[in-house]
Amino acid sequence: MLEQNLPCIALLATGGTIAGAQAQANAAGYKSGALPIGNLVDAVPGLTSLARIQAEQVASIGSQNMSHAVWAKLAGRIAELADDQAIHGIVVVHGTDTLEETAYFLSLIAHTDKPLVLVGAMRPATALGAEGPANLYNAVALAASDAARGRGALVVMNEDIHYAREAQKIASMGICAFDSPNRGRAGVMHGGEPHFYSRNTTRHSLDSEFTLSALQAAGWPRVDVVYAHAGMDGLLVDALAGHAAGIVLAGVGDGNATDDALAALARAAAAGVAVVRSSRTGRGLVGRGVEIDDDAMRFIAAGELSPQKARILLMLALSVSQDPAAWQRCFEQY
Ligand code: GLU
Repeated sequence: MLEQNLPCIALLATGGTIAGAQAQANAAGYKSGALPIGNLVDAVPGLTSLARIQAEQVASIGSQNMSHAVWAKLAGRIAELADDQAIHGIVVVHGTDTLEETAYFLSLIAHTDKPLVLVGAMRPATALGAEGPANLYNAVALAASDAARGRGALVVMNEDIHYAREAQKIASMGICAFDSPNRGRAGVMHGGEPHFYSRNTTRHSLDSEFTLSALQAAGWPRVDVVYAHAGMDGLLVDALAGHAAGIVLAGVGDGNATDDALAALARAAAAGVAVVRSSRTGRGLVGRGVEIDDDAMRFIAAGELSPQKARILLMLALSVSQDPAAWQRCFEQY
């Protein structure tokens, strides 16, 4: 294809291991986000036959330092690119630690049906067998395809495609670190072509009611995650209750906790804090009223969302409503 006929893909780089540099190729230690996006693009043979690349450095951080400020910058830039007729698709290059959070946030806040793909790598760019170049190739190929249109944010890692809502980092090392534990992978990349297995049926992107402006106007409502464990008391929850607009319980089993912790959460809910019960197990769902009387305790059930994704959805839900019934409806629809 003539170069001018290739789709134009915007690459928004934020850093991460994919841009990480080691002192030596076999070293365990490395500096995340050290390499500029131009170096990564140059390391991928064939990339410029797939698409015309417009690369921008939005941040240079390990994604453990991902912040609401960078999310606002990314979402703002994506909104501009969504309106730019010359741009076919967008790739966000990201560290893997919080990649699923940024993907889910963008899937709810980016009002576009253009392909939007997040990609990272587990091995630093300078490591033996670095998989970043292959992942970046697949991400650009996916963003250049029409099959990715209208699916919200997608995650590509290790030849697997995940919907943003489903993607989860499930291992701290190794290249098979991502999975979609509840609903399975969205599809796979094979020979640079996407093969989708399913459609995502929950609300996202053009069908989302959330906006960056409403979130900013609400001051990014503070939502904290509290991790449940044997012997938990109410101290942490009581301490948070005066500061947080919302608390997400990373509960044991189906969003459960000790009687003491639940009593503290009920006190917080009665004082107007939005309390969401999710599960620390990594898979399954938390439904209303199974072991806990959510109606009496004024709790919200997180459904399939992990604690870290429930935090994002609750923050957005708080930016559009103060009604607990509306918060619960969000957890049933997104
Ligand atoms: N902590 C780094 C990050 O998230 C390393 C994880 C990675 O990118 O693989 O940026």
